[in-house]
Amino acid sequence: MDNAPISLWDASAVECDYRQSLAGDVTTEVAIIGGGFTGLSTALHCAEKGLDAHVLEAEQIGFGGSGRNCGLVNAALWMPPQDVRKKLGTTYGPRFIDFFGGGPSYVFSLIEKHQIRCEATKTGTIHAAHAPSGFKDLEGRAAEWKRLGEPVDLLSREEVKDLIGTDVFHGGLLDHRAGTINPMGYCRGLARAARGAGAKISTGVRATKLHKDGAKWRIETNQGTVTADKVVLGTNAYSDDLWPGLAKVFTMIHYFQLATKPLGPEAAHILPGRQGLWDTGQIMFNYRRDGFDRLLVGSMGKVVGTVDKGLSHRWAKKQIARIFPSLGPMEFEEAWHGQIAMTPDHLPRIYELADGLFTPIGYNGRGITTGTLFGQAMANLISGMDRADLPLPITELSTVPSAPILKRLYQTAFTANQMMKSI
Ligand SMILES: Cc1cc2nc3c(=O)[nH]c(=O)nc-3n(C[C@H](O)[C@H](O)[C@H](O)COP(=O)(O)OP(=O)(O)OC[C@H]3O[C@@H](n4cnc5c(N)ncnc54)[C@H](O)[C@@H]3O)c2cc1C
Repeated sequence: MDNAPISLWDASAVECDYRQSLAGDVTTEVAIIGGGFTGLSTALHCAEKGLDAHVLEAEQIGFGGSGRNCGLVNAALWMPPQDVRKKLGTTYGPRFIDFFGGGPSYVFSLIEKHQIRCEATKTGTIHAAHAPSGFKDLEGRAAEWKRLGEPVDLLSREEVKDLIGTDVFHGGLLDHRAGTINPMGYCRGLARAARGAGAKISTGVRATKLHKDGAKWRIETNQGTVTADKVVLGTNAYSDDLWPGLAKVFTMIHYFQLATKPLGPEAAHILPGRQGLWDTGQIMFNYRRDGFDRLLVGSMGKVVGTVDKGLSHRWAKKQIARIFPSLGPMEFEEAWHGQIAMTPDHLPRIYELADGLFTPIGYNGRGITTGTLFGQAMANLISGMDRADLPLPITELSTVPSAPILKRLYQTAFTANQMMKSI
């Protein structure tokens, strides 16, 4: 494997990476495939319950979305709560909103408990209106969150100006529950905590076959065989063909980011409260500062070109010049992208693929809280919790036949968007 960092976070996280090969054929109670938030949180919570848990990661810890994302610790809901209630009904709707509304505070409690060094800030995130229509949408969201008693503030154009450091936005919604992290730092910290609780982690181990052998599951890998009572797949948007059909239950899209070199005091007026920000545009745009005053900007699609040349580099320079004209020319340090699993209704899923084989999947770009909480839920389920108490019902695997076409269409639209916005 090439040793170039997979993201800024891979290079900048203070928490140490952990790499360990599989020591021959092994047996465990719970085998977990995928070393991101879902897999590592499952391992941590299983180990805390006294279960023998073993994570198998094909590459390195955080290789998937977990080590590449924007680090916005949002309450895991894409949709306004009223739409979630409509889709999930009166039992699961309120439960889902409540469970995931508490997601950021649970993530920050784990960071505190395990002293995870991940540049955590707890000053909220801002959903910024890219246009008056976006502000209308935010008004509806704010009214419903307030009705539910949640700590959000709807901010006028004037009010967001100083908070964001620019006057290009038409208002915003500040969610006080949320915050930001260095996601690779958090992921490695979860791995450290899971190991501390007794879980095992093996990296560079790709599961290539998965089948039932009597009452046990047998997982064949490039390094040996793992026998387990239960299996959790935490492979999400990086699912391969290990389980037939799993990579077809979502539409995969890419999301890219560029990070500048540290800006020092020049950046002090950009999000002075250090909130992370994303906008209401259909092709979403985000920016934030990291703990070293680098400015990160990103949007949907892949990096086209390199960190210092090509389309994405031009796009990033243009975006920064548009929003912060006083900053002047920028030098960039890292450019990267990752994969996101989008479901048709923007809700995640929990599947039981076969007896004792579970997978939470399809987080629609909201995985820090979702992965952490679903990992906890998987550990609860495996250790005897009634499945009726899960935050979502376990559903039948259902594929999205149009996913391959949609993936290509989105990719084309995202690249065209970068081109249009680079002129
Ligand atoms: C650029 C980007 C920005 C994002 N921004 C945010 C954000 O700001 N906030 C937020 O909450 N979410 C964000 N997300 C979404 C979030 O990162 C994901 O939802 C989350 O990381 C999913 O975690 P996971 O553990 O389920 O899967 P992943 O972290 O993707 O992990 C899956 C792992 O499975 C491994 N794997 C796959 N197949 C096998 C196999 N056969 N054997 C062994 N291992 C295997 C992969 O190597 C990978 O490491 C973003 C995502 C991207 C890509």
